Amino acid sequence: MSAKIRTQEEIAARVKALEALMIEKGIMTTEAVDRLAEIYENEVGPQLGASVVAKAWTDPDFKARLLENATTACAELGIGGLQGEDMVVVENTADIHNVITCTLCSCYPWPVLGLPPNWYKEPAYRARIVREPRAVLREDFGVDVPDSVEVRVWDSSSEMRYWVLPRRPAGSEDLDEKALAALVTRDSMIGTGVVAAP
Ligand code: FE
Repeated sequence: MSAKIRTQEEIAARVKALEALMIEKGIMTTEAVDRLAEIYENEVGPQLGASVVAKAWTDPDFKARLLENATTACAELGIGGLQGEDMVVVENTADIHNVITCTLCSCYPWPVLGLPPNWYKEPAYRARIVREPRAVLREDFGVDVPDSVEVRVWDSSSEMRYWVLPRRPAGSEDLDEKALAALVTRDSMIGTGVVAAP
């Protein structure tokens, strides 16, 4: 397979070709492909990660287990599966801001965040976030990380998929788990966003 896939059209064409081949060989059915696409378009998405974050914010024991082993902690909530066999959650604090990428391709924790956004897969993000994360966060995402806060960039791979436990915002003390989850955005779990105060 060529290492230089440049456009969405080329990727789409390759996906179609692979899908046709797998159906022809009897490895997959059209129904199975449609069902998989439906699952990741409609059912598995950042709302699952957000529910994990909200639980971690309200349950210190769960948070400890999540930071110890994200895969087994998520499994407690019935969350897991494809592309999430080995997940690692890194915690944002007053002193550390974490951000994730995959410098090699587009590895991403599907079970909690769904499919990655297009920009996550672009070489521009993958290369630059490693070299100058503060500038990327500020210029591309409007996130200003103060100089006093250390920025850590985590490079995911097919073996290890990182995601971020964002900071609980001020003013959210009275919110229940469900209301907290509604505040948590996809980008805050990638580290290219922060959770805004309610
Ligand atoms: Fe990758």
